Amino acid sequence: MDRALRLGVDLGGTKTEAVVLRLEGDEPRVVARLRTPTERDAGYEHVVASTARLVADVAREAGLEAPPPIGVGMPGSITWRAPDGSRSDVPLVKNSNTTCLNGRPFRRDLGRALTEAFPTTFGASVGAGELAFANDANCFALAEATYGATRGARVSFGGILGTGVGGGIAWRGQDGVRTWDGAQGIAGEWGHIVLDPSADLPCYCGRRGCVERFLSGPAIEDAYRRRTGRRAPVAAIAEQRGEDADARAVLDAFVDAFGRAMGTVINLLDPDAIVLGGGVSNLDLLYERGPAAVARWVFDDELRTPIVRHTLGDSAGVLGAALLL
Ligand SMILES: [Zn+2]
Repeated sequence: MDRALRLGVDLGGTKTEAVVLRLEGDEPRVVARLRTPTERDAGYEHVVASTARLVADVAREAGLEAPPPIGVGMPGSITWRAPDGSRSDVPLVKNSNTTCLNGRPFRRDLGRALTEAFPTTFGASVGAGELAFANDANCFALAEATYGATRGARVSFGGILGTGVGGGIAWRGQDGVRTWDGAQGIAGEWGHIVLDPSADLPCYCGRRGCVERFLSGPAIEDAYRRRTGRRAPVAAIAEQRGEDADARAVLDAFVDAFGRAMGTVINLLDPDAIVLGGGVSNLDLLYERGPAAVARWVFDDELRTPIVRHTLGDSAGVLGAALLL
């Protein structure tokens, strides 16, 4: 087996992407890439089987007889608590938007499907050095810190502002860049820091006024609708802020909330650099006005932390997954 090869899987809500990557030099070299619909409505067993098949197909596409070390990135985290409250002896998925995975031992079952497909490679079971899992935001932070906007940082924070708000921490160790997932897998989850517990903004996590309810795309659109009675997508709200005072007010509140939320992250982690991803991260005002808004909440008389846009685009998730092992 070529030791420079890795296989990454990005298990998204609508599509699943897999790459075989050759790790050499400063740029990722994609040897093969495949995509398939996730078809989460078809149920848990279907998602397990189609993910295993995608791994086999992309390895074959790369000309390999068996997959190299596999990293899987997906929304959510793991828990050892079963849905009935008892303690599980294998890790279970929680908080995934592919909800059929929640409460299920996806790592174990994908491992089993892979040992059936490749018995001579994996033997009786897939080992920890052969199959790794991480939250998709951690994969984003890892990819940008290895090949993208935060390359060279000792510690960086990757914040995703999209349908939800996620985040991951990457750090440079002796053997390359790694992610920090935390004792219970929630490190970097700034989206569920409560910004204003008195706000009438219930969050799916059970609390009120989470960062996600201020900074996600749906949160911005909700704020605009509550104020005007009209629906508009984030890009349109941003575009009309010159002539629309309501759009301006909504975006002012958004930038202020971003400042408070990211100021909290910086006070805690003090990363060397921050990279933003997700659809909302395309708003120029985050980079034009964001740093000043953040600086007001940082425990220092200056803000030196660069806050930059992602450079790897949509492929960051799958690249980061490939870098997990
Ligand atoms: Zn929440």
